[in-house]
This record gives sequence, C-alpha cells and structure tokens, in this order.
Amino acid sequence: MGRIAITTWCQERIRQFMPEPLVCIDATAGKGRDTLFLCEITPDDGHILAMDIQEEAIKQAKERIRRAGYESKVEFVLDGHEHMDHYMTDSVDLIMFNLGYLPGGDHKKATSYPTTIEAVKKGLALLKAGGLMTLMIYSGGDSGFEEREALLPFLQDLDSQDFTVIVESFYNKPNTPPLPVYILKH
Ligand code: SAH
Repeated sequence: MGRIAITTWCQERIRQFMPEPLVCIDATAGKGRDTLFLCEITPDDGHILAMDIQEEAIKQAKERIRRAGYESKVEFVLDGHEHMDHYMTDSVDLIMFNLGYLPGGDHKKATSYPTTIEAVKKGLALLKAGGLMTLMIYSGGDSGFEEREALLPFLQDLDSQDFTVIVESFYNKPNTPPLPVYILKH
C-alpha cells in the first residue's frame, strides 16, 4: 500500500464499517467532497442532509453534486450543524464532520468547539443503534488547538456502554496531522 490521504483513509473506514448507509448528514459541507462521497455510497433512495454556515460553501458543494448528477439525494441547508435536529428527525445511519475552515475560504469561519460539541451531542442522539459518526479534527496553524483540546476529553467521557470511540493517529506525519475519529453507537 502506498501513500494514503487521511480523508481517503477515513472514507475507507466508513466503507468498511458502513458500506451502504441510507440516511446521512454531512455536518460540514464545505466544498462538497464528503457530500459527494456520501452520494456515491448511499443507495438510490438514500437521503443526505448537507449543512454549512457559509453561502459560498453551500454554493460550491451544490455545484459539485449537480455536476455528478446526484441532486435528488441531497438537501442543502445554510445553517449551523448545532441545529441539525431541526432538519432531521429520522434515525440516521451516518454523520460526517470535517472540522476546521473551508480550504481557500475565510479561516475565521472555522468550526469552534462550543457549537461542535453541541452538534456532536445532537448527532449522537439522532444516530440509530448501529450508526456511525466520524470526525476529522484539525489542529495547529490557523486552526489552533482549542477545538481538539476540548473535543478529546469530551469524546473520552462518552459512556462506553453506549458508544465505541476510536481515535486514529498518523503517528509520524509532521505538522499536527488531522485526527480521524469514529464513534459507533451500540
Ligand atoms: N468537508 C469539506 C471541508 C469542510 S471545511 C470538504 O470536503 O471540502 C469546514 C466547513 O465547516 C467550512 O465550510 C465552514 O463554513 C463550516 N462550518 C463552520 N462552522 C459551522 C457550523 N457551526 N455548522 C456547519 N458548518 C460549519
């Protein structure tokens, strides 16, 4: 096996843990790369809620999905993921968070831990038993360390009766690489 991008690694894990999710949330649509990945792995009657607080992100993500011909599967919402429970009441199979800032966008409009933690709590409540949540946690550079430092203890405190939390580390990668996290709901 050669080099592998961390985001690709995370997607491979998802394929392994949950090969065909029906109802998904992309909690940080950004440029829509994860939204597109979710379109590819869901069946024809799959449903994906894609959220972002930036109009520019929703625009780019929408365009990517339109070009790939998946418009009918995705509901785009310009709102914070901490309000995901306003848009999704069903039991959800898979929720993806790709934290930090929009590449090429405003680094100040990044995710921040108070709303991220609120959204993770809501997401875990929406997940069905057997469901999966993934988080890609960025740190260092403009992202700083605050969000990671707040999230890790929160994740460690999740009740092991209810959830399995796996944190993977790209151990020898320089410059504080992103941390992929997988939360499996029992
Ligand atoms: N998954 C994307 C990258 C995400 S970047 C891709 O593959 O391209 C992180 C995104 O989170 C940014 O677009 C930012 O606008 C968004 N964001 C920041 N705070 C948010 C919040 N409270 N709710 C939803 N999205 C948020």
